Amino acid sequence: MTSAIEIDLVSDTTTRPSADMLTRMASAPVGDEQKNEDPTTLALNEEVAGLLGMEAAVFLPSGTMCNQISFLVHCRPGDEIIAAENAHVVASEGAGAAALAGAQMRPIATPTGIFEAADVLAALRAPRMRSPRSSVVSVEQTSNRGGGLVWPVETLAALVEAAHANGLAAHMDGARLMNAAVAADTPAKTFARGFDSAWIDLSKGLGCPVGAVLAGSKDFIAAAWGWKHRLGGALRQSGVLAAAGLYALEHNVERMAEDHANAKLFADLVTGLPHVTVSPREVMTNILFLELDGPLTSGEIVKALAERGVRIGAESDKRMRVVTHLDASEADVRKAAEVFTRVIEGLV
Ligand SMILES: *Cc1c(COP(=O)(O)O)cnc(C)c1O
Repeated sequence: MTSAIEIDLVSDTTTRPSADMLTRMASAPVGDEQKNEDPTTLALNEEVAGLLGMEAAVFLPSGTMCNQISFLVHCRPGDEIIAAENAHVVASEGAGAAALAGAQMRPIATPTGIFEAADVLAALRAPRMRSPRSSVVSVEQTSNRGGGLVWPVETLAALVEAAHANGLAAHMDGARLMNAAVAADTPAKTFARGFDSAWIDLSKGLGCPVGAVLAGSKDFIAAAWGWKHRLGGALRQSGVLAAAGLYALEHNVERMAEDHANAKLFADLVTGLPHVTVSPREVMTNILFLELDGPLTSGEIVKALAERGVRIGAESDKRMRVVTHLDASEADVRKAAEVFTRVIEGLV
């Protein structure tokens, strides 16, 4: 017997646009974005540029396109990008940097997804004819596979300095940068300071149906526009989508503190169950992992939960992911933790 999923904690991408967001979208002034004539998209770009302390910004269909266009601008074929080995750009974008920009990844082994300036210096290639050219350092704020960990401002600042001192560009995958800003009570632009490119996703914790905004210098954004067009990412009346972004930046940022509290609550409620370890030990934002030892497997647990109306993600045989978001209330999260507890107790 299977039942419908009532509580979906598989990802913060599962959020649906609210009635108020849809109203704002329906009444958005629009024009041709490709001709820079969509007033709502232009307003969103200006808003995000300001938020990230950058000169300019461009609306794109997805965060993946923000990463890939950044690499296309920063890299030439034969270049190398330094990033955590569990980063989205390494593991979850179809080897896009290799396939599109002709750049290869130089992965840094770090289970938290966070690394230091010293790791960058150690990964640099000597400028030899036969070596790849080290051209970009890419960081992920927050670290998704690190369990939503927040990079400290000082670590980022040191990294930017090391990158620039060696002629590398610094890129920030800010899919959940606004979660970091709320959790650490630090402006997004403080985290993004000195970066050559940074972006935020609208379709994760901010609750929009579509979109991401990439920011950087005027020259960087002009070059990004060339790739946006070439890849088919130049849009027409995108104001209907940008309006959702403007709505989200007004209404859905501060409230992410509730998602973070709910993730901590879930972690507290399931800590101490047999064969289950919560990671990270200190849940900082809206993501946590459940690691299994002994006989239990993710597959059987995820299946048993789904039969009881709760969905979480299986990352591997021994690792599951829980993500809180604006469509999961505290009561939902409590109920999900209760169901999880019953499932584990029933299986051991
Ligand atoms: C989701 C995600 C992306 C990609 O964003 P999309 O909008 O889904 O293309 C990139 N990086 C991280 C860390 C993500 O979590």
